[in-house]
Amino acid sequence: MGRSRSRHSRYAPGAVPRREQRAAGKCPACGKDSYTSKKLAKQDARRLFPGDTMRVYPCPGSRYWHMTSADAQRAAGIRARLADRGGAG
Ligand SMILES: [Zn+2]
Repeated sequence: MGRSRSRHSRYAPGAVPRREQRAAGKCPACGKDSYTSKKLAKQDARRLFPGDTMRVYPCPGSRYWHMTSADAQRAAGIRARLADRGGAG
């Protein structure tokens, strides 16, 4: 008889406290958004580019992580192959 359902649904889904700092700022080596861990980079990649296949990689010039789109990586690979073939004319 005294069933009271308390719902704590006042918290808006998707609301992220601004204080939470995800990115570590700009990378000192290449100026990209940098993350202190692979996990953080992946999380932000999913948030910023939902539906896109993003991959994260460790920065060669610093100890941070960056994100890039898999498509861009593939395109770069294809262009590299084309450039390799174009030498002999
Ligand atoms: Zn970097």
